[in-house]
Amino acid sequence: MDFAISEEMQTILELINEFVEKELMPLEQDFIHRPWEELEPVLKQKREMVKQMELWAPLHPKEYGGMGLGLLDYGLVCEALARTPTGVYTFGCQAPDAGNIEILIKYGTPEQKERFLAPLIVGQTRSCFSMTEPDQPGSNPVLMDTTAVKDGDDYVINGHKWFTSAADGSSFAIVMAVTNPEAASHLQASMIIVPTDTPGFNLVRNIPVMGHAGTGWHSHGEILYQNCRVPQANLLGPEGHGFVIAQERLGPGRIHHCMRWIGESKRALDMMCERALTRQIAPGKTLADQQIIRAWIAESAAEMRAARLMVLNCAWRIETEGQKEARQDISLIKFYTAGVMQRIIDRAVQVHGGLGVTDDTVLSTFYRSERSARIYDGVDEVHKISVSRRILKEYAAEHRLA
Ligand SMILES: Cc1cc2nc3c(=O)[nH]c(=O)nc-3n(C[C@H](O)[C@H](O)[C@H](O)COP(=O)(O)OP(=O)(O)OC[C@H]3O[C@@H](n4cnc5c(N)ncnc54)[C@H](O)[C@@H]3O)c2cc1C
Repeated sequence: MDFAISEEMQTILELINEFVEKELMPLEQDFIHRPWEELEPVLKQKREMVKQMELWAPLHPKEYGGMGLGLLDYGLVCEALARTPTGVYTFGCQAPDAGNIEILIKYGTPEQKERFLAPLIVGQTRSCFSMTEPDQPGSNPVLMDTTAVKDGDDYVINGHKWFTSAADGSSFAIVMAVTNPEAASHLQASMIIVPTDTPGFNLVRNIPVMGHAGTGWHSHGEILYQNCRVPQANLLGPEGHGFVIAQERLGPGRIHHCMRWIGESKRALDMMCERALTRQIAPGKTLADQQIIRAWIAESAAEMRAARLMVLNCAWRIETEGQKEARQDISLIKFYTAGVMQRIIDRAVQVHGGLGVTDDTVLSTFYRSERSARIYDGVDEVHKISVSRRILKEYAAEHRLA
């Protein structure tokens, strides 16, 4: 396998890195301290600059106005953008919209594409994905209480969801609801598009996550669907295929997440080095003179390199062999990279001392928001169980132990 970066990609990455440093990193204190609504107009201007540079929507196909990058190249873009919290948003490839765009392109009807996809892909609107419920385990989502019952030409949706990221201010939600309760468990639920101004779509609150409730794109909503009525034409993909489509959305999505986490790790390591070299702890002595700090830097660099190669290798396998063949690798990178990132951010916080736990640097934002990386898109334990099950099965077959 060859991970050499093409000349064209090299130029793109240089442009992105420069933009991130000059235009977006200076906005970090605003992102941390001001409500989303106040930052949004500023980011709108930045988005126009990105469009002028023809770097908008790097993931999405050219015929939809994107750059049409492959998975490996897009992974490199995620890495560069994630060094600052508003990177992916400014370039039109933020979660959960990016995943919703992918499934709308693949499964949307012409009417759904015109009404929901077209404004979303140009950044006029935002969307959210509403699957997890407070009263059922997200780690086993086939156990779902939310129902969508047919009534005339409509579905009537009832249920309680939470952690619907970015629901606040979204134009529509893609909701997972049980439509076929008699079918096999993985064929019971469907994806249904619900405009958020539909009566019965009730955003109860933005859930405080480690003390931060946030607003707008930077929030996670709790939602009650109460006799929420939408036309059956809002069904996305075949009825009962909600989990099949969700699986498709998650595979490449994990490459995007993992490369983002590498980008955040990189920023944390940069900050660790800068602080270590400049923080005097005795006359003529900086933190960087301490062996323990040097060890953290070396360990962080090694873990980050290992994770990065694993993720690139996984992206390459998805591109060359397909998502199904790469299933094991996808699980491996998901829990490994999340752990690496957390250890690196944690070391960076420690090197900054008291400053590290304040909101005066971006580290506390990374620390707070990325504790969740071991929970969303498949909890660590489920990925580990699935990897080890396969390893044990192969071992048992090879050694005739079962
Ligand atoms: C920041 C954030 C953003 C999110 N965004 C979205 C979103 O946009 N849309 C959406 O629908 N959902 C979203 N989620 C929800 C997320 O997908 C769920 O939190 C996740 O699937 C875990 O489900 P749960 O919280 O119900 O935990 P549970 O399923 O109750 O699991 C709790 C814990 O039990 C352990 N566990 C679970 N299963 C096993 C097992 N088989 N063996 C051993 N241990 C196990 C794990 O340690 C796990 O953390 C988000 C979550 C977070 C934190």
